Amino acid sequence: MSLAFIALGANLGEPLKQAQDAVKSVNSLRSTKVLEVSPFYRSKPLGPQDQPDYLNAVIKITTELSPIALLNALQKIEKDLGRVRKSNRWGPRTLDLDILLYDNIQINSENLTIPHYDMKNREFVLYPLFDLEPELVLPDHSLLSELISHLPLKGMTRWS
Ligand code: ATP
Ligand code: CA
Ligand code: CA
Repeated sequence: MSLAFIALGANLGEPLKQAQDAVKSVNSLRSTKVLEVSPFYRSKPLGPQDQPDYLNAVIKITTELSPIALLNALQKIEKDLGRVRKSNRWGPRTLDLDILLYDNIQINSENLTIPHYDMKNREFVLYPLFDLEPELVLPDHSLLSELISHLPLKGMTRWS
């Protein structure tokens, strides 16, 4: 049994509904259980600014799925919940599910990088992660609390 953290983002359609549906779908995955969901946050988009604000959250799960199987399953959920994959990265989407951490594993393959390559720079990832796991230590031994202390909120608020 492995412990993993998933970052959720949504900024098209009805972000709140997609987020709630996504949590249910993740909880329904084979041999996977949602243990906790962070508060929902509202943040400004990364990259192109001419798109709606994002709803962001982090989901804590236990799973028997391998990292690759988990990635495939998450991509299927994205698709089922209406995401159309476009060539432009960071464009608007109904749902984005990224694997942040999977036990203390480090993977650098073509399709999968764990820990997520940019998580340390993203307030919309680290703050909800901190809500769930204030004592967290990353695989490279950095302390989440230390990373947060150097990362401004950049206007992020609670989703209401
Ligand atoms: P970013 O990766 O910067 O957050 P994005 O989420 O918009 O951008 P996507 O278009 O959703 O990027 O995904 C691009 C590819 O990233 C996916 O096809 C997937 O193979 C790859 N990928 C690598 N590592 C991960 C990970 N830890 N979680 C999810 N996808 C990953
Ligand atoms: Ca992402
Ligand atoms: Ca993604």
